[in-house]
Amino acid sequence: MAGILFIISAPSGSGKSTLVSELRKQVSGVDFSISWTTRPPRGSEEHGREYYFTDRAHFEEMIAAGEFLENAEVFGNYYGTSRRSLEEARKQGHDLILDIDVQGASQVRKTMPEAVSIFIMPPNPKVLRTRLRNRSRAEGQVNEAELYRRLSEASKEIENYAGYSYILVNDILDRAVAQLEAIVLAERFYRNSEPITFRSSRVLEVAAACRQANSAERLKPVLEAFGILNSTGQQQLNFDEDSDPDEE
Ligand code: 5GP
Repeated sequence: MAGILFIISAPSGSGKSTLVSELRKQVSGVDFSISWTTRPPRGSEEHGREYYFTDRAHFEEMIAAGEFLENAEVFGNYYGTSRRSLEEARKQGHDLILDIDVQGASQVRKTMPEAVSIFIMPPNPKVLRTRLRNRSRAEGQVNEAELYRRLSEASKEIENYAGYSYILVNDILDRAVAQLEAIVLAERFYRNSEPITFRSSRVLEVAAACRQANSAERLKPVLEAFGILNSTGQQQLNFDEDSDPDEE
């Protein structure tokens, strides 16, 4: 049985890492591809656990040697998925999750159109800002300029949502985890005829509701909050510092 390739993209601070680790606790046979990056480790990150950390010269050698399935520059650093991750998951017959940005996702969709792509959105800019700031505090380094840059990038990344098969809005963690799990189980059911027991019809319904094609109404308020549904095409970033009840 061939494993399924899941691409997950989300703006930084959308809760993607938590969702993926919760999914892997609930569903077996899902590997996570550890990317290579030239950014320095943050907080308690370890080489070989969150990322393989390296320098630009080595990363460029890896590009030249064709070692990457995809790679991209994000926030001034290189990130890339090694082909080896994919080969190893295939050997085991496991599904594989790639946590990659919108540029990498677009490269993988071109070479592997069978991949299942999932975009995770924060519910609104204020929640995103609070999560980013809390994360920076926990890591002991609140950098306002970097925070603002990531918030601005979020809108640009969200604009790419329409290229993804499924969209999750991560407002309530348990619900988003259940939705992600339903997508994985439904895809296994459709592609590998894998039985999904008595919960099957519910799982298929939950997954179907997350399909991008079925999400217009659910996404409208989120896209409006990020200034993406503005008919003039202008970005209306809404990161005002004053009225956030979650702050402090
Ligand atoms: P962070 O530095 O916050 O861990 O990740 C920054 C961004 O880089 C996130 O959007 C993440 O999905 C993306 N990213 C992580 N690994 C890869 C990768 O291997 N390839 C690409 N294209 N993006 C990646």
